Amino acid sequence: MTQNAQSLSADQSNMPPDNWIYIQERDVRIGRLQVFNNWSPHLVSDPSKVWLGLEYFCQEGDDLWTKPDDEMIRFAAAELAKIGMIDESDVLDGTVIRVPKTYPAYFGSYSDFWKIREFVDGIGNLFLVGRNGMHRYNNQDHSMLTAKLAAEAIVAGNKDKSAIWDVNVDDEYHEEKK
Ligand SMILES: Cc1cc2nc3c(=O)[nH]c(=O)nc-3n(C[C@H](O)[C@H](O)[C@H](O)COP(=O)(O)OP(=O)(O)OC[C@H]3O[C@@H](n4cnc5c(N)ncnc54)[C@H](O)[C@@H]3O)c2cc1C
Repeated sequence: MTQNAQSLSADQSNMPPDNWIYIQERDVRIGRLQVFNNWSPHLVSDPSKVWLGLEYFCQEGDDLWTKPDDEMIRFAAAELAKIGMIDESDVLDGTVIRVPKTYPAYFGSYSDFWKIREFVDGIGNLFLVGRNGMHRYNNQDHSMLTAKLAAEAIVAGNKDKSAIWDVNVDDEYHEEKK
């Protein structure tokens, strides 16, 4: 789930220069904070404001998922205030976006995944790409690369999907702690 809050002007905000920050404090539930101004000033229509993205990891139907939007926005603002990032009164606006099925599950019947792959690979003109398409923890780079390889295979008339399945097999995940 993502919750965006626009808060006080960038220069007065004391926001860190980072694009994103994983929040480690145990007494809040926010998992990751993005400062969109630091990704690119072009993402923010009014550069005098700070656009923050807050990510909450939850399950469909749990207490966070079912919190009404206005409550969720207040809850998130209070959490940011609690860890000293903002003053709650600085929040101008917020939007809650609930994104279901965001994380491919590598448990349960996942060990039988090869059976699905074998079946779908047998359909010549079907190319599975991306995150949910391949049920794999692909990031955006991986997802785009799989799409590019699929397009190249289609143009070449190649029905072998193995190069696509090889994406993100040995790669280190770029979010890993070094
Ligand atoms: C909370 C979160 C944070 C993330 N952070 C990062 C990050 O910081 N860096 C990074 O690299 N990656 C990140 N990712 C991963 C990244 O978002 C995915 O790897 C990437 O978006 C996958 O691209 P995709 O094209 O496979 O799928 P998507 O981007 O999900 O695109 C699939 C599209 O298909 C549409 N769709 C679905 N079903 C249908 C249908 N039946 N008909 C028509 N359209 C349909 C959907 O609406 C969607 O627009 C994050 C993911 C999540 C969930």
